[in-house]
Amino acid sequence: MFKKQNIALWLLSAAVPLIAVLPLPDFWIAQLNYIGLYSLVCLGLVLLTGVGGLTSFGQAAFVGIGAYTTAWLTLNTGLSPWLTLFVGLAFTAVSALIVGMITLRMSGHYLPLATIAWGLSLYYLMGNLDALGKYDGLLGLKSLSIPGVNGDIDIGQGRLFFVLTWAILLAGAIALLNLLDSRPGRAIRSLKGGTQMAEAMGISTFRYKVTIFVIAALFASVAGWLLAHFQRTVNPSAFGLKMGIEYLFMTVVGGVGYVWGAIVGAGLIKLLDDQLQVLLPALIGTSGSYEVIVFGIALVLVLKYLPDGLWSVVARKLPRPPRAVDWQNAEALPERRKPTHGERVLSVQAIRKQFGGLVAVNDISFNIEAGQIVGLIGPNGAGKSTTFNLITGVLRKTSGQVNFCGEDIGHLSSREISRKGMARTFQHVKMIPDMTVLENVALGAYMRGSSGVLSSMLRINKTEEQRMMKEAQRQLERIGMGAYLHEQAGNLAMGPQRLMEIARALCCDPALLLLDEPAAGLRHKEKQGLAQVLRQLQGEGMSILLVEHDMDLVMDVCDHLVVMEFGTLLTQGTPAEIQASPAVRAAYLGTEH
Ligand code: ADP
Ligand code: MG
Repeated sequence: MFKKQNIALWLLSAAVPLIAVLPLPDFWIAQLNYIGLYSLVCLGLVLLTGVGGLTSFGQAAFVGIGAYTTAWLTLNTGLSPWLTLFVGLAFTAVSALIVGMITLRMSGHYLPLATIAWGLSLYYLMGNLDALGKYDGLLGLKSLSIPGVNGDIDIGQGRLFFVLTWAILLAGAIALLNLLDSRPGRAIRSLKGGTQMAEAMGISTFRYKVTIFVIAALFASVAGWLLAHFQRTVNPSAFGLKMGIEYLFMTVVGGVGYVWGAIVGAGLIKLLDDQLQVLLPALIGTSGSYEVIVFGIALVLVLKYLPDGLWSVVARKLPRPPRAVDWQNAEALPERRKPTHGERVLSVQAIRKQFGGLVAVNDISFNIEAGQIVGLIGPNGAGKSTTFNLITGVLRKTSGQVNFCGEDIGHLSSREISRKGMARTFQHVKMIPDMTVLENVALGAYMRGSSGVLSSMLRINKTEEQRMMKEAQRQLERIGMGAYLHEQAGNLAMGPQRLMEIARALCCDPALLLLDEPAAGLRHKEKQGLAQVLRQLQGEGMSILLVEHDMDLVMDVCDHLVVMEFGTLLTQGTPAEIQASPAVRAAYLGTEH
């Protein structure tokens, strides 16, 4: 979704200097300046809302922090605006960090509501502080200037300001595109699908939510700094809730999932707004903010007919060149020490889970030795998934103990457990549909890398990125998925999707692989393929816990079976013993008689 838009990047980079020298009327340059400023805020919203799935109505408040900081400081201390920019960014980062830490643990409607509250309170704060000129704001700012040979060069409000704003905007867009196509970027893109998968890959979802909240705020703060020196005055009305809503509106109309959607949306809304403010009163005959009504209707129509925004139409038409393969010579990622054959990998001792009065898992015990495939079977509702979730740390045990490679992991979170080398797949495939198979699988290698947001934005993460891609390719080829590398994950059939999840889990370099119903929804041939993959992995020394409904598969590949019924352990043994067990026949295989 992000790579293929490089054409747009080249076009825009060429258009900016061209527009600067063309004899466009000043009115249009001013319009483009506003569009550049708004786009910068919208760019932050693309990351926060479009990619990260966190809706904020409060971005205008961060614009206000950037604007007021530079206004107050340049007027009262005479500091250079090039310095106050960084003071403003620091203020913004601290406030976004505090607001983010408090609100980002909230889910559902609470986050948007909290950002509304934040936007409102900052608006009233700006309007009531004497030092900030109350609702009149601060007047008489200087425009930006740069030192030149014959004195300072005034950047002013015209073409130079246009070049500055759009250069910043372009740099921001490139940084964002770089970020989204990187280790932290893949982590950010996994946020929208819920936290379970991301955490199972070792990603701290909360940390990334706060991170993108701060980044979006910083984009807004830069826009505020520019705006203050563009308008040469600041007052609260530009930073209130109405503007906060408008920024979100622009981004959604343009295409909240696309970097270029931000610019398209900001441009369209700004131009329409101006035209409608003149046109509508002339048409209707009385003055009033009729454009608001038109925008309201337009938003509903866009949401209904183009829910991914206007840019989605263009994005679909743009060519999608496959990722350039530049990692052949990359060094392999380091691997953890794995238990040797026969060593105990997992020891589950009397684990128990109660949901109120229901005992879903009743003192279950079993072991897994290195190189074994252990099947966990039982009728629907027997407690298999709950057991799986207790082992992987998704649910907290009521009692009992789980040892992994000799270490008690009972108190650890699913993220910490995955970092210790337990990798899993999901009963319902969890992936990022608009990323390629290769990129999805590379998400599994997250904890084997270390590049952060800044190095990714600056593209100085290349070596590590190549190592991750090489590992992802290796794991896909290992399970026979080599032909699917550059395929869009969302376009895959169920079978390849499940194999992709296994490759992703293998990318974590696990000591134990946990598969939750990997054969569900597969066709007969695909099941045979899966069985072969599992046997091959076992041959390579992998230890596997398999929760599965499909009896043929389980009997075929498992060394040891654990049978559950109504939360309790019915029996355990080899497939042959289980098949011969009268208790199991009665409880589970009884239908075959
Ligand atoms: P299985 O995976 O073997 O089909 P589960 O582990 O999903 O079974 O469920 C075992 C029992 O625990 C079921 O009776 C189910 O209704 C109950 N259960 C599972 N999760 C919860 C929950 N979060 N709250 C209450 N009951 C639950
Ligand atoms: Mg289940």
